[in-house]
Amino acid sequence: MPIKPQLLTPDTIAAARDLLAQDGTAVLIAGGQWLTPQLRSGTQTPEHIISLHRVNELRGIRQKDDRVEIGAAETHHAISQSQLVQSALPGLAQIAAQIGDPATHQRGTIGGGLCAAPGQCDYSLALLGLDAQITTTHRSLTAVEFLDASNPKTIDQDEILISISLFTSPRTLFAKIPHPAANSAAVGVFAAELSGDRCRLAIMGDGVWPQRLTDIESRMGAWPFSTVFDWPAALERENPFFISRLNALWRRGQKDLTPD
Ligand SMILES: Cc1cc2nc3c(=O)[nH]c(=O)nc-3n(C[C@H](O)[C@H](O)[C@H](O)COP(=O)(O)OP(=O)(O)OC[C@H]3O[C@@H](n4cnc5c(N)ncnc54)[C@H](O)[C@@H]3O)c2cc1C
Repeated sequence: MPIKPQLLTPDTIAAARDLLAQDGTAVLIAGGQWLTPQLRSGTQTPEHIISLHRVNELRGIRQKDDRVEIGAAETHHAISQSQLVQSALPGLAQIAAQIGDPATHQRGTIGGGLCAAPGQCDYSLALLGLDAQITTTHRSLTAVEFLDASNPKTIDQDEILISISLFTSPRTLFAKIPHPAANSAAVGVFAAELSGDRCRLAIMGDGVWPQRLTDIESRMGAWPFSTVFDWPAALERENPFFISRLNALWRRGQKDLTPD
């Protein structure tokens, strides 16, 4: 008979980190949308579960110079409804708005999604597209470092994701074809124009790790932004695996998105 894990409720990051360090089997829980099924099925059998819901330091959505910083424990709902995110990072608001069924949308967090499965998390596209900086209790990582397919920096057992800081960009486009079972992107595309005429184009899906298409980015600056979704021909040359689904996405994008 498995032992029922004990729930611990620290109210600071430091206290949560100390509790993690004391028990190598302990796990953090934020919204519980990914972890709870793991616990129920016995895939994970920790002695202690450390809840982050009282740790206010992990919350908040704030402007810091030309970036917006989002606490790891902010929910998909809060991110999608934030006026700051809607105006400064509309592409991120679009991603958050489309995540989850009602329960997961209300309770699931950006930190939980990125720690559970960065390769399948829709936010990964915005991390790459908005040159995110990821801060944990142990280190600070760029999005490219965090999502490096050959060496992904997954979060260690004793590490806590604190915040994600993203460049603001009111000119962003996001579209996805949801996976019929999981709802996360079977194919996802995110484009952004950053200051200084820097363009970003990130894709994910179908077993393809989230990645930037830097070859195309370097040519995007010459395009009017509204034609960003004109890429199927360019992508065909660079990533043939994606082309049939991207064509479908492109048709949907033309219908759904209203770029300037
Ligand atoms: C019905 C459903 C629909 C979904 N749809 C989508 C979708 O459309 N797009 C998409 O991208 N995802 C989707 N997901 C995945 C979902 O976004 C994530 O499962 C959810 O957001 C995880 O967040 P959570 O707060 O519930 O994480 P939890 O389940 O609480 O934790 C997940 C993992 O992250 C760890 N963790 C949590 N917070 C931290 C932290 N701050 N620091 C370190 N480790 C931490 C936990 O220890 C655990 O290992 C869906 C899931 C479900 C169940």
